Amino acid sequence: MKIKNMSKPLEFNCEDCGDLDYVLINGYDFGDRLLEGVMFRGFPDGHVEIDPEGAEYFKDLNQKKWLKEAKRHFAEVMEMGDEVTCPKCKDDVAVLAERWFRLDIFQK
Ligand SMILES: [Zn+2]
Repeated sequence: MKIKNMSKPLEFNCEDCGDLDYVLINGYDFGDRLLEGVMFRGFPDGHVEIDPEGAEYFKDLNQKKWLKEAKRHFAEVMEMGDEVTCPKCKDDVAVLAERWFRLDIFQK
């Protein structure tokens, strides 16, 4: 899978699943064990939401803080390259940073 991160808004596409409305970000990547197994959805406009599967657990945490952290991490991944997960086939997918730049959508 390749994610085209040049466009605004972002476009996500999985080789196996086609166009995606959002990608999954593992909370462990920025929240360590506190957010292990908790997934966030990263949307083309740069906003993030808690994936419903982890919502029950997430309720007891500092949601405002962690959503902010999730958004910051999402921006980093899109701008510098890393891995995200396809919500359909659950494959880990490399995000290739084709250009090193700040995406406008994350500046809001
Ligand atoms: Zn897929």
